[in-house]
Amino acid sequence: MKKLAICLLALSGFAAAHGAHVHGVAEMDVVIEGKKLVITLESPADNLLGFEHTPKNDSEKAKLKAVSEQLQNASNLFTIAASAQCKAAAPTVKMPDFAKGGHSDIDAEYHFECATPPKQIALPLWKNFAGFKAITVNLATANGQKQIKLKSGQVLNLK
Ligand SMILES: [Zn+2]
Repeated sequence: MKKLAICLLALSGFAAAHGAHVHGVAEMDVVIEGKKLVITLESPADNLLGFEHTPKNDSEKAKLKAVSEQLQNASNLFTIAASAQCKAAAPTVKMPDFAKGGHSDIDAEYHFECATPPKQIALPLWKNFAGFKAITVNLATANGQKQIKLKSGQVLNLK
């Protein structure tokens, strides 16, 4: 557990160094350690909501509510092969408060406990949130760290 925390810290430092906020692009940290799988998504709010300001009307208010509910269910974003038998814990979703104005991000963290390490993660988020065009994945496994750039529709191979 301690080791995982250090690993995550190292990754978030890495993300910050490269963390330009470009609409359509998101960062995803994927850490696999033993039976634990942790996926952290850091995305411009625009990718998910289509706006980055305090909701101005009922349709934007409804969109904000719908997206924050969708993010509570990991399966709207990730599909992990059933063979890995991963169980999802309750996610941590940080919606923007828009108080500062300018750009805002949505951060979400998903924890899974898997019987065997997954070899692949499919990403229904491409379909569910059309605002995503590319995702930079920082992958950390027992085999080391690497960065993978995914384009819309691609799956994440963990091998
Ligand atoms: Zn923005």
